[in-house]
Amino acid sequence: MESKETLWKECLIKIEEQVPAESYSAWFSPTYPHALTESGLTIAVPNDFYKECLQENYYELIESVLKTLTGKPIDLQFKTEAECPDDEKKEIPVLKPTEEFLKVEYASPGLSSINPKYSFSNFIVGSSNQFAHAAALSVANNQVLTYNPLFIYGGVGLGKTHLLHAIGNTILEKDPRSRIRYLSAETFTVDLIESLKRDNMPAFRDRYRPLDVLFVDDIQFLAGKDRTQEEFFYTFNALYESHKQVILSSDKYPKDLIKIEERLRSRFESGLVADIEIPDLETKVAIIYKKAEAHNKFIPQDVAVFIASNIKTNIRELEGFLLRVIAFASFTHREINLELAQDVLKEFTYDKNKNFTISTIMKTVASYFDIKISDMKSKKRSREISIPRQIAMYLCREYTKYSLPDIGRHFGGKDHTTVIFSHKKLSKIINENGDLKKSVKEIIALIESGKTL
Ligand code: ADP
Ligand code: MG
Repeated sequence: MESKETLWKECLIKIEEQVPAESYSAWFSPTYPHALTESGLTIAVPNDFYKECLQENYYELIESVLKTLTGKPIDLQFKTEAECPDDEKKEIPVLKPTEEFLKVEYASPGLSSINPKYSFSNFIVGSSNQFAHAAALSVANNQVLTYNPLFIYGGVGLGKTHLLHAIGNTILEKDPRSRIRYLSAETFTVDLIESLKRDNMPAFRDRYRPLDVLFVDDIQFLAGKDRTQEEFFYTFNALYESHKQVILSSDKYPKDLIKIEERLRSRFESGLVADIEIPDLETKVAIIYKKAEAHNKFIPQDVAVFIASNIKTNIRELEGFLLRVIAFASFTHREINLELAQDVLKEFTYDKNKNFTISTIMKTVASYFDIKISDMKSKKRSREISIPRQIAMYLCREYTKYSLPDIGRHFGGKDHTTVIFSHKKLSKIINENGDLKKSVKEIIALIESGKTL
């Protein structure tokens, strides 16, 4: 077995690819591996606050990365440093973001944390984001404050962060000395907690109040964090009153934010509120072309349409999928075509549906139709048994990585041609509108919810 240090380091490398740099340095940099056993990994974190946040926001991500690395499920636990006093931390450099943090004078030019990667020129405009884009452009180009604050809201992966950075880049292009600072509400929270701990609130205030423009991303993170909300309220007012621009993003409309004080919600609403909706197919296809171009790759139209129609609601996923297609083609020396994209989609769907195992599928289908698992494995051919059996085989083929012969074996040693037959038959049924289609949908939802018997 590899050492806990190696495993955790590999895990961190993967996580760093998947979470925003800000969140990574706030939450993951100060962690280190405490113990690794056959079945579990315990990670040490600075205090309870980190423990809760990692637990709440990143547990599933870490778990799935560990599973990919080790090939088996790993029981993940967090402990505070105080709970693991004897650890030596030297194997993994413990980069305390907080030390860095306090050295940074946010109000200095050049320390804006604006990511040059995201600009208006590589943002595709469609009807779903037209309004938010126009609002962002207007704030970026306006010398006078017209919209303050600018509040952009929309679902995950729809381009909110991209637009915030694009505004920042435009402002910096016009005047590189502008005192602007981008950060997530998460980072703001960590900064506040550390400053309170060090009893250094004046320095905290000095980091924000002299800014010309403050961007706070994912403001919904402040939900339930009363002390942070209070301090954010003061920060906001101080900037607002001195006619400085505040730009915020959130996953919800201000009024719909839960556990956020009313006085903040009404401040959020007082400027311009712009939403980003789920993009239509054409916009998604255009985004795919743009992203592929950035990687110097050509994507045939049928592949672009295939990807765009399969990834419904999240542009980050769309991009992730596209990158997989590109990477897969290059590893396997295959050309990028529809067949390859279909292969990649299978893997992608599998990753997203870790609840789908052969045994869960069999159990859920059997209980849904009120038959026994042994019946499903039997040779019985009555309709009451054969239909559920075919549905289960279909789901195994669609949602797991098992090969046809493997699936056949799990169903009492059936031949792989039986699996193919079931799959074909069900694919047809699913395309017709009938009771069976409804049943299959309900079964999928049951398995996805993880609430199977
Ligand atoms: P959010 O902050 O809303 O969760 P992001 O801004 O991080 O989403 O966007 C996720 C990814 O999708 C980013 O890589 C971003 O560049 C890309 N993206 C989103 N919308 C667009 C768009 N309209 N044009 C180009 N890329 C986009
Ligand atoms: Mg974002």
